[in-house]
Amino acid sequence: MSSPRTRPPGTIRIGTIAGSDVLVSGSWFLIAGLIALLMAPVVDQVRPGLGALAYVAGFAFAVLLYGSVLLHEISHALMARRLGLPVGDITLHFLGGMTQIEEESRSSREELLVAVVGPLTSLAVGGLALGLVQLTPEGLPRLALEGLAGANLVVGVLNLVPAFPLDGGRVLRAVVWRFSGDRHRGSIVAGWGGRVAAVAAIAYPWLGTLRTGAAPSVVDVLLFAFVAAFLWQGGSQAIASAKIRRRLPALHARGLARRTIAVPADLPLAEAVRRAREAQAGAILTTTPDGSPAGLVHEPALLATPEERWPWMAVSTVARTLDGPRVLAADLAGEALVEAVTATGPGEYLLVEQDGGVHGVLVTTDLDAAFREALG
Ligand SMILES: [Zn+2]
Repeated sequence: MSSPRTRPPGTIRIGTIAGSDVLVSGSWFLIAGLIALLMAPVVDQVRPGLGALAYVAGFAFAVLLYGSVLLHEISHALMARRLGLPVGDITLHFLGGMTQIEEESRSSREELLVAVVGPLTSLAVGGLALGLVQLTPEGLPRLALEGLAGANLVVGVLNLVPAFPLDGGRVLRAVVWRFSGDRHRGSIVAGWGGRVAAVAAIAYPWLGTLRTGAAPSVVDVLLFAFVAAFLWQGGSQAIASAKIRRRLPALHARGLARRTIAVPADLPLAEAVRRAREAQAGAILTTTPDGSPAGLVHEPALLATPEERWPWMAVSTVARTLDGPRVLAADLAGEALVEAVTATGPGEYLLVEQDGGVHGVLVTTDLDAAFREALG
């Protein structure tokens, strides 16, 4: 993971903590400004006569608040790193923070540990701030501690709601994974948790209306609609990707291989095609004079060549040179197969046995068709 990462657009780097770059998105300044605006009148009540400095105090509170969000994210990053999972950037944005963990948990235990430390950290920070409130006399520091305690306790509790993509959704995924032995079932259940929470978030501002008959404020409706969209989208993505990945193991490179003939690279194309038809082969491998694999005939290139020219062309002119990524193990299957092919691109792949022998050729159009069939 030492390749230089490109920073996401619209973010600035404020430092490095625990080996991760800490980025702040532009949207954060918007929310910090909003917090400063909302806090200034409260600051003015507690400590009158500050004038414009009340806004500075409000902004300082926003920085303090996001400092505690950063602690939450650092706990995810440290736990992941401790378990040997590579960790990328930590980004603070207006909804909170996000830690990029670049590999999936290998076990339900890892998934649980990485997820649960975040909310536990927030609850601990909230509890600590609450304790300090009791010891602090009236004034700005006490106001800040009260805000910090309230925000962290709310963040800690809300993040434990079993709804993907919240931390609690990851905890739920880990638990279902542990008891069913199926990671993907865990993702689907947690994704549905996200969808249910999204519906609840949409309904929440209207609960008061049932009681009092008064319509909810526009700000509340918009805020909860935004949260609902975030939950619905995250939950739905988890469900969709789990459904796809669940079916991938049915894809085996070996079973998809086309029967392949080997011909010298300088053989006329017409003769190569004649031999392939005779052998009922679906792929042609070109070889060097000493018989080792040199290239694979690329079907679109072959079809783009007028047939009357085939007798006068070497088969190698419509073949792609075989390089490392175009040679795959015949035993490759499932996600590993899809990843290998996605990384290199469409076309033909030579499948080889462990002893180096040629098994056949995999053509990505066949893989695509098998994939669609697997999805039903
Ligand atoms: Zn978290």
